[in-house]
Amino acid sequence: MQPKQSIVSLPVYQPGKPIEEVKRELGLKEVIKLASNENPFGSSEHAKAAIIKELENISIYPDSFSTELTAAVAEYLGIERNQIIFGAGSDEVILMLARAFLSPGDETITADETFSQYRHNAVIEGASIIEVPLRDGTHDLPAMLAKVTERTKIIWVCNPNNPTGTIVRHAELDAFIRQVPSNVIVVLDEAYIEYVMDEDFPDSLALMREFNNVILLRTFSKIYGLASLRIGYGAGHADLIRMINQVREPFNTTRMAQAAAAASLADDEFLQSCRARNAEGKAYMYREFDRLGLHYFEAHGNFIMVDVKIPSGQAFDGLLRRGVISRARWAHYPTYIRITIGSQEQNEAFVAALESVLAEAAVLG
Ligand SMILES: *Cc1c(COP(=O)(O)O)cnc(C)c1O
Repeated sequence: MQPKQSIVSLPVYQPGKPIEEVKRELGLKEVIKLASNENPFGSSEHAKAAIIKELENISIYPDSFSTELTAAVAEYLGIERNQIIFGAGSDEVILMLARAFLSPGDETITADETFSQYRHNAVIEGASIIEVPLRDGTHDLPAMLAKVTERTKIIWVCNPNNPTGTIVRHAELDAFIRQVPSNVIVVLDEAYIEYVMDEDFPDSLALMREFNNVILLRTFSKIYGLASLRIGYGAGHADLIRMINQVREPFNTTRMAQAAAAASLADDEFLQSCRARNAEGKAYMYREFDRLGLHYFEAHGNFIMVDVKIPSGQAFDGLLRRGVISRARWAHYPTYIRITIGSQEQNEAFVAALESVLAEAAVLG
């Protein structure tokens, strides 16, 4: 058997380690997973009720067009229904974008340390990936613009950026989009937008309304706490959304995901409470990192990238042995780990474990 040339050396995605596996391997009773930016406060009770209600219909294929959820999201964003496409997570919208727009010989531009799925799907389609170094952990939009050629098809801007947590602000993004040729798609991946409190965060909806080549990606996996259900969406000009719809699998989102997403969208109280608790957790982490003298990037989502001043693999292993799963081994940040902001109890356990790991590392020289 011989697969497509483009996937011969493609790695299989390495997800954050599952809790059960770590418990088994290390014989630990308590394990905290702060590796995948999941919501430590779970999900809306309304979402759970909606799922239970939908159980009686699971033998029937879902609504291919997610009609009710589309209407709810269209109203929520103040856009038309034909401007929205759902995916099995926004991961699948990234896949569909690559499938619809990238061919061998095309170029696509990303930051050098950003969400892995842009590169992954571009590689599969045989496109060339032009990586532009982050500046102080932040997308360098002028440098990305300078890389645009006649072959450029898609530019990916992850805002806030995963893993660094930094943002680009409205004025710079606006100036950037005005200069990008109108045939080049600009993807604004806003998986963490609900956590952002910065007043100068881009009005991406306004940019999307003005520019037909701008698409927003949002997800129900993060603040809404529905990661296991796999549902996210893209929002853009109707023509762009129609092209992506052409490559969409007919039943790519489930009944339960659609119902839970609609119920979650209506539960603003849950969202606001998660947002506030995340801000408290972030302030706590900042204080502790300051006390320990560790540098971190300004965090705008529900995770922090922190310099632990030892090889990140060593920190990861040390934390794991103490029952905390983090995310490490970033190519461009060899001494940084990414840690999800958890509940206060989880954050305290993490800080205690980190202090112990750092103390041990100093002892061992
Ligand atoms: C988590 C994440 C996504 C996608 O999550 P889904 O579960 O597939 O919706 C997309 N982009 C970024 C930057 C993320 O961190």
